[in-house]
Amino acid sequence: MEGMVMTRFRLFGVISSLLLVFSAAPLYAQFPKAPAGYPRGPLVYSSVIQPNEGQLIVKLKRGAERRIRKELKRRKAAQSKHLVQKRLARKLGLRTSEKLAQADYVVKGRRLNSKKIVRAQRRYVKTVEPNYKVFTFDVPNDLFYLLGLTWSLDNMGIWGGKADIDIDAPEAWDIHTGNSDLVVGVIDTGIYLEHPDLKDNIWSNPQEIPNNNLDDDKNGYIDDVNGWDFANEDNDPTDDHYHGSHCSGIIAAVRNNGRGIAGVAPNVKLLGLKMMAADGSGDTANLIRAIEYATKLKKKGMNIRVLNASVGGGDYSEIMKEAISRANKAGILIVAAAGNSSEDNDAKPVYPASYDLPNVISVAALDSSGELASYSNFGANSVHVAAPGSFIWSSIVYGFYLPFSGTSMAAPHVSGVAALLMSKRPGLSPAQVRDKIMNSVKPLDNLRGSVSSPGIVSAYNVLK
Ligand code: CA
Ligand code: CA
Repeated sequence: MEGMVMTRFRLFGVISSLLLVFSAAPLYAQFPKAPAGYPRGPLVYSSVIQPNEGQLIVKLKRGAERRIRKELKRRKAAQSKHLVQKRLARKLGLRTSEKLAQADYVVKGRRLNSKKIVRAQRRYVKTVEPNYKVFTFDVPNDLFYLLGLTWSLDNMGIWGGKADIDIDAPEAWDIHTGNSDLVVGVIDTGIYLEHPDLKDNIWSNPQEIPNNNLDDDKNGYIDDVNGWDFANEDNDPTDDHYHGSHCSGIIAAVRNNGRGIAGVAPNVKLLGLKMMAADGSGDTANLIRAIEYATKLKKKGMNIRVLNASVGGGDYSEIMKEAISRANKAGILIVAAAGNSSEDNDAKPVYPASYDLPNVISVAALDSSGELASYSNFGANSVHVAAPGSFIWSSIVYGFYLPFSGTSMAAPHVSGVAALLMSKRPGLSPAQVRDKIMNSVKPLDNLRGSVSSPGIVSAYNVLK
């Protein structure tokens, strides 16, 4: 029996080593050169701040799209969306452009031409930003440290953990386990939709008829039945990495099904917002599109209240900040991982976690003895709470489970807690939910000066 268990764990080890090598690749890739001609002056490049070369995100001036259409009309060109977008790209000296939201576009080409950008800024373009790369926030693990399973939900103080360093999940479940109509969007590498611990909690779009090649709910996305894959531009948000499935399991794995794990909010639904590719990296443009997509669905009556963002990278983006503000107006809370570089976010902000908006809650990671994890970012002003993040077992692809560590794993605990609270008290605004979570942590003195609410998030305290 013992031999069999070891073999299974050895298999897990091999698979996860491969996955880790795969996922770490983009972080160690050579940093790109500064994009030639970028008009805003020199940028600081680090592993977190990497722009996509030859790409921009722009917000158009009022009436700019109309002016471009008019110019095309004069030339008797067809009034297609395609031509307008192409024309916009050419004005910026690039090749293609795609709408992200309202007046926001991502524009792509080979290299930037500062003269053309400056010229376009005079008449058409209000804001110009780089399109940054965005990464998952998990860290490599000691793969054979196989003790203390699911300590984050209920820590019994064995195997080196400390009793009650957990989010009080069993106590919270006596009060509430979440409503099945509440939806948490997972902004990530996708969700492994067929995972036996996830498949019963996958959201499906009631206004979209599957596979008829029509956009039945008229949200601009054809056959988006379970969400969207912004990285590959198709309707299948299935995870081809592991990170998004891992976060999804922490939020809402099915409880009492005799297998695997239970999520913090085991009855709510998961919406796949896949904006990172199989290598675990994406960009600001797709992050904006994912947020906008969820906001639109919310406005159409889907009960999307929480977006988990265990991702980060890039510098401040005014255009993304506005997208998150629109999500706030629609009643959506964004739970963001604080980052894994052991740094102070007050001094060196990490986005999206550091946007100073009422609906953004930034989360640091704890280990099972209640210490701030060595990799976790912190910030007395800009990191709001701490939650379990180290050695968290959860679902990955193909029905497997593995433990991972990172602020990526801490944020979904808070997303789950927020989902429980918003299920029980649907009238609360995102800001009220953030306050409630911050004001009901179990105090930990060692976290003073590291996070705004020094303590560990408690699902029970939030609900009671
Ligand atoms: Ca649709
Ligand atoms: Ca359809």
